[in-house]
Amino acid sequence: MKKSIPQLFGSLVFNDQVMRDKLPKDIYKALKKTIENNTHLELDVANSVAVAMKEWAVENGATHFTHWFQPMTGFTAEKHDSFITPVGDGQVIMDFSGKELVKGEPDASSFPSGGLRATFEARGYTNWDPTSPAFIKDGTLYIPTAFCSYSGEALDKKTPLLRSMETLSREATKVLNLLGNTEVTGVYTTVGPEQEYFLVDKALYQQRKDLIFTGRTLLGAKPPKGQEMEAHYFGTLKTRISAYMHDLDEELWRLGIPAKTKHNEVAPAQHELAPVFETANVAVDHNQLTMEVMKKLADKHDLVCLLHEKPFAGINGSGKHNNWSMITNTGINLLDPGRTPSENIQFLVFLVAVIKAVDEYADLMRVSAASAGNDHRLGANEAPPAVVSIFLGDELTAVLDSIENDTFFGKQQRIQMETGATVLPHFFKDNTDRNRTSPFAFTGNKFEFRMLGSSASVSGPNIVLNTAVAEALSQFYEKLKTAPAEQMEEAVHQLVKDTVLKHKRVVFNGNGYTDEWLAEAEKRGLYNLKSTPDCLPAFIADKNVDLFTRHKIYTKSEIFSRYEILLENYCKTLNIEAETLLDMIHRQFLPALMDYTGSLADSISRKQAAASLSCKQELGLLSRLSAYGDEIAEKTEQLKADTLTASGIGDALEAAHYYHSVILPDMEEIRFIADQAESYLPEAVLPYPAYDKLLFSI
Ligand code: ADP
Ligand code: MG
Repeated sequence: MKKSIPQLFGSLVFNDQVMRDKLPKDIYKALKKTIENNTHLELDVANSVAVAMKEWAVENGATHFTHWFQPMTGFTAEKHDSFITPVGDGQVIMDFSGKELVKGEPDASSFPSGGLRATFEARGYTNWDPTSPAFIKDGTLYIPTAFCSYSGEALDKKTPLLRSMETLSREATKVLNLLGNTEVTGVYTTVGPEQEYFLVDKALYQQRKDLIFTGRTLLGAKPPKGQEMEAHYFGTLKTRISAYMHDLDEELWRLGIPAKTKHNEVAPAQHELAPVFETANVAVDHNQLTMEVMKKLADKHDLVCLLHEKPFAGINGSGKHNNWSMITNTGINLLDPGRTPSENIQFLVFLVAVIKAVDEYADLMRVSAASAGNDHRLGANEAPPAVVSIFLGDELTAVLDSIENDTFFGKQQRIQMETGATVLPHFFKDNTDRNRTSPFAFTGNKFEFRMLGSSASVSGPNIVLNTAVAEALSQFYEKLKTAPAEQMEEAVHQLVKDTVLKHKRVVFNGNGYTDEWLAEAEKRGLYNLKSTPDCLPAFIADKNVDLFTRHKIYTKSEIFSRYEILLENYCKTLNIEAETLLDMIHRQFLPALMDYTGSLADSISRKQAAASLSCKQELGLLSRLSAYGDEIAEKTEQLKADTLTASGIGDALEAAHYYHSVILPDMEEIRFIADQAESYLPEAVLPYPAYDKLLFSI
């Protein structure tokens, strides 16, 4: 019998319901305490949990377990061990201990460490993260874990995220308690990542080396129709796509991932999936899992899911919107304007903390969204510009204006305090139109960070946000802690006012896609870090190293190792792209062009011999195509030489700049000519499927 959706949801997850059913009461309580308060877990508790987990997993068909982790590759990693343990007589039992649950020791030597891990010490450890639920996938019990080196340095994307969540919780709680909200003992960050993706036919994909090796097309003339008719956005789902999305939802639901919204996106063949938000680290794990399931299920449907930020030139690429907020353990969304003036005070404090954080650490936010793929989107009128600014909407901006100027805020009664200060205004949730061009927009009760690329882990941006906001809150706490209770309201008012004055330059409600804004942003002194090599050095800037080390999010060597990994990754990506382009040009495109021009020449001489025809049209085409061929050949020689130069540059940052300023333009020049030539070639001559087939065949 088919399961109902509520029965299906989380059916492969070791969730609270299962824990309650399977664990002895005291063990359940101890585990819950660990999950909610980050307390240490005793080994006897772990042993008991391991037994229950194994029983449940085996009942649900699992034979193996794996510590699932997120190394710096940007993908997830897993190594499967079976539960079987020989017990003599050729018999086995299914066994799993607390030690195996809590700690793993994978060989770390083949994961990027940016020089952190000396070669003589290849060991790495995986540590169970009980705050993210274990689940079963393909007959294996998956245990979410953090991954670190022998000496305890983080080698993954989860460890610093957990650290940043704890830091934010501590600093936010201190401020809330000071403001009189004494019941709160913890604050969680919540994240809802909206995921964009493309689906193309598998048989067509397999004929394109560029898609296979780089995830994006390096060649391809624009088809007669692109996205200009705006017909695809929210359009009717094609049967094949609909079947895929249906399967995808079911699979995600089984894994406890609250997939909620699905629709067609702006570009042809582009789609989006949005889940309901969850605690940040669970949301990050679930987004990684979502991307994996998307790819796996596409294969089953003879499709390929492209998560690259720019699979096709000339039409929109894919991003990821990181919706972010903070919620108290008493259930209050701190970015939700409240119903009473005092709730609004709390809201304003947290709002201006975010504004201050984004203004001071805009460069780090830019770094958190940087990748070779995302460079094709940012600032290209399909995604926010590289300048990080905040959209607040008209009403909230007016509220902040009134605070700044001590003026009366429209709708409410002005209340005068004995001290003469204007009490913070009372206002309601703003439902103004969303501004789609802003990289960081307030959307009613959360912020939406829109710079992220579609393929990236959402861990990085949330680490930066959590840490920068925690820093702002800790400064607020220091400022407010000495204020006597009866003067607290005035002190808060002054703090909000000072913060607005100091950081309002980062607020911008206009159209972020215009050149006027870029000029204005420069006047305001905002960062405009255009490319990945331009922005990465900000990661190791003193103020940012200071931020991360002071809050114990990263050690200095963790930061530098990550910086190295990012640079290296950028160079490798571009090198693979250049090699792929050279291969396609030399072994596919030029041979096809030569074949065709050869047969054209034959046919011209036959026609001329037979009937002395002028063959004006054919001759024109022949000379045009040969000229293109000559130019392409010349430019590919240049690219080849430049690629050689690039690989000889020892300094990683210098190499990255070279790839950006020399190799990329080389590749674009070749493409420009090849695409013109392609538009004159008969379809059957092209050795791989063209854009029209890739984008419009489903
Ligand atoms: P859109 O941005 O397309 O208008 P929604 O406003 O419905 O869509 O929400 C987009 C995403 O924001 C969803 O994933 C949703 O779960 C998430 N979201 C909503 N509230 C919060 C919150 N408090 N914290 C984090 N994410 C949230
Ligand atoms: Mg959105």
